[in-house]
Amino acid sequence: MTALHWSTARQLRDAVGAGEISCQEIVRHHLNRIEALNPALNAFLTVTPEGALKEARRWDAARAQGEPLPPLAGVPVVLKDNLCTRGVRTTCGSRILETYAPPYDATAVERLRAAGAIILGKANMDEFAMGSSTENSAFGPSKNPWDTSRVPGGSSGGSAAAVAAGLAPLALGSDTGGSVKQPAALCGLVGMRPTYGRVSRHGLVAFASSLDQVGPFSRTVEDNLLLLSTISGHDPRDSTSAERPALDGLMPDDGVAGLRVGLPKEHFGEGVDPEAAEAVRLCARLLEAAGARVEEVSLPHDDLAVATYYVLADAEASSNLARYDGIRYGLCASRDDLAEQYEATRGEGFGAEVKRRVLLGTFVLSSGYYEAYYGRALSARALCRQDFEHAFERVDLLLGPTSPTPAFSLGAKVDDPLAMYLSDVFTIPSCLGGFPGLSFPCGFSSSGLPLGAQLVGPKWTEGTVYRAALHLERVLGLTDRHPEAA
Ligand code: GLN
Repeated sequence: MTALHWSTARQLRDAVGAGEISCQEIVRHHLNRIEALNPALNAFLTVTPEGALKEARRWDAARAQGEPLPPLAGVPVVLKDNLCTRGVRTTCGSRILETYAPPYDATAVERLRAAGAIILGKANMDEFAMGSSTENSAFGPSKNPWDTSRVPGGSSGGSAAAVAAGLAPLALGSDTGGSVKQPAALCGLVGMRPTYGRVSRHGLVAFASSLDQVGPFSRTVEDNLLLLSTISGHDPRDSTSAERPALDGLMPDDGVAGLRVGLPKEHFGEGVDPEAAEAVRLCARLLEAAGARVEEVSLPHDDLAVATYYVLADAEASSNLARYDGIRYGLCASRDDLAEQYEATRGEGFGAEVKRRVLLGTFVLSSGYYEAYYGRALSARALCRQDFEHAFERVDLLLGPTSPTPAFSLGAKVDDPLAMYLSDVFTIPSCLGGFPGLSFPCGFSSSGLPLGAQLVGPKWTEGTVYRAALHLERVLGLTDRHPEAA
C-alpha cells in the first residue's frame, strides 16, 4: 500500500468519501511529516495546525451526519505566501510584510476552502516572486528534496519542495515568467501555468499584473487538473479574469492520436543540458508512437523574450510595489520626515533583488526613456506572441525542455543575476503571450535529478495540454519515484 503522504489528492478524497480514513488522520499525518522534514527543507514559512485541524474536524463531523462532502474534503494543500489568507500572515518572502496578516482570503483560497481542501500553511518563495531559486527569500532558501544541496527552483520553490517531499499532495504557486513551471521541473512535479485570465488574481499580491497567474503543483496530472478546475472560473473582483466558467475537472482521456506537436528548434540549441534535451526527445518519440504527428517549428523572436520580460515585469513591479511605504500596513521605519520615512522603510524592508527591479523598472518608465525601453518592449512582446500564434496555425501543442538544466547548487547563481534570469529562458516566451504551459516530469539526470518537459498550447486549451501530459505520464511511469531523503 502507498504511504499516506505519497497518496494523491484523488486517492485521499476517495478514501475520505468511502469512510476509510478521517480528515483528521490525514491532516495529523501531514503535520507530523512537516514537523520532521521542514527544518531541513524550509519549504513552509508558516504552518497553521489549529486551522487545519479545525477544518478537518468540521468535515469529519459533516460526514458523520451523512452530509454530502465537497470534492476536496480532507485534502491538504499548501499556499505560496503571496496568496492572501485571512488572519494568517502573508509575507511574500519579504521583511516588509513579515507580520502582515490580510483581512481577506484570495479568491483562489476562498474556492479551495469551499471545496473542502485543508490549508496546512504558507510556502517560502523568492521575495515578491522575483527569482528562480527561492534564494531571494528574506527567510532563507528552501532546499530541493531530491538533493538538499540544490535549489528547488523559484519563485514558488517552497510550494514545489513541499509537494515533492510529501508534505502535501497539492500546492498553489504563482507564475509570472516561469515560477510554477520551473520549480515543478526542478522538483519532479506537474506544474501548470494556466491561460492568463483563467484564475482570478484577486488576493494574489501583485508583481507584474499583466503576467501574473496562480497555478497548481501536484505529483500527478490528474491531481493538477483537479486543483486547477477548483480555483478557475470568472471572478468579478478581478477585471482581467475571463468571463468563462470553471475548467471542466473531468480528465480528457482520449489519447493523442492525430495530435500535432511542434518542437521549437530554438529550445534545443546551445546551453541546453544534453540529458534534458534527450529526455524531451524521448517524449516526442512516445507521442509519435501513439499516433501524434511531430514536427520542428520555429519561434523566430525567441531571443527577444527574456530582455522584453525584464523590462515589462520590472516596470510593472516598480509601480505595484510603490504601495509599500510603511503607512497603512507592513514594516514602518518611523522618522520625523515623511520622505525619510519612505526611504528608510523601503531601504530596510526590501532585499537586493527587489531594489534592483524597482530601480530598473522606474528607469525604463521615466520620461525620455519610456519609448526607448518600455514602448519597444511592448512591441517585442507582440512579436513574441505572434510567433506562438503562427506556430499554432500548424500544431496543437509545443513541446520542449522546461529548464535548460536540472536543479543547480545553492549559491551557484546568487551573485550573477543574468545567469539566474536565464533559468527561465524557455518558460518566459509563452508567458508574454498569456498561453497556458505545463511542466511534467520526463526523466532523471544521470545524477538522479528530475528533468521536466514543457507543453504549451493556444489560449484556453488546458484540456489538450493535460491530455498529452496524461498520456506521457502513463507511458513514462515515473510517478512512483520519490526523493530518498524525504
Ligand atoms: N524568475 C522570473 C523572475 O525572476 C520569473 C518569476 C515568476 O514567474 N514569478 O522574474
